[in-house]
Amino acid sequence: MSIKENLIEIKNTFVNSDCLLVAVSKTKPIEALKEAYAAGIRDFGENKVQEIVDKQPQMPEDTQWHMIGHLQRNKVKYIAPFIHLIHGVDSFKLLKEINKEAKKSDRIIPCLLQMHIAKEESKFGFDDAEMEEMLQSDEIKQLQHVKIVGLMGMATFTENEVVIRKEFKGLKSLFDDLKSKELPQNFDLKEISMGMSGDYIIAQEEGSTMVRIGSAIFGSRN
Ligand SMILES: *Cc1c(COP(=O)(O)O)cnc(C)c1O
Repeated sequence: MSIKENLIEIKNTFVNSDCLLVAVSKTKPIEALKEAYAAGIRDFGENKVQEIVDKQPQMPEDTQWHMIGHLQRNKVKYIAPFIHLIHGVDSFKLLKEINKEAKKSDRIIPCLLQMHIAKEESKFGFDDAEMEEMLQSDEIKQLQHVKIVGLMGMATFTENEVVIRKEFKGLKSLFDDLKSKELPQNFDLKEISMGMSGDYIIAQEEGSTMVRIGSAIFGSRN
C-alpha cells in the first residue's frame, strides 16, 4: 500500500477525528515525507536533531516539525529557530536551555513535558517529585520563551492492552491533576501526546490529542 493509502486507512480508524496525526518520518528519505505532504500531512516527527536539520530546508515552509525523541541540551540551538513543538522535555535543565535558545531566536517555543508512565525502567521523563520541585521553584515563572502546552508519554513496549491502557489512563489523570492546579503563566495545558502505530486507538480512547505514528504510515524501519 502507498503512503497515501496508509494515511487514509489510519484516519478511518481514528476514534477522535480531532486528534492530530504527527507523521513520524525518522530514518525515512525526503521522498517519503513529500508523499505524505502531498497527501495532506503538515506535521512531521523526528527524533534526531541532525536529521531534522537536514530535512527541514528540503520541505515546504508550512511543514511543522515536531521533536519527539530525547533532546540533548547542547543541540537545542540547532532546532530552536524553527521547531514547532518539542515533545520530549524530560528535565528542568533542558527546559531552561530551550528557553535560552528560544530567546535568541525571539520565539516562544511550545513544549510538552515527558512523563514517566511506563513500568519498564527508562532514563527519560519527569517523575512526580521532579515535577513538584519544578513547579515550586521561582525560576520556572521566569521562563518567558517557552510555553508548556501539555504532557507526553510512552507506554511500556508490550502487547498487553490492559497494561497500555492503564498507563495512558495514568497520563490522562496526571494531566487532569496538573490542570486543576494553580500554574505559572507559561503553562497552557491542552495537549496529551500519546499513542504510536501499535496503540494509537487505545490512546485516543483514553484522551490523546496527538498521536505519533511512524511505521503504520511509512512501513517498518531497519
Ligand atoms: C519512533 C517513535 C514513534 C513512532 O513509532 P511507530 O511505532 O513507528 O509508530 C513515536 N514516538 C516516539 C517517541 C518515537 O521515537
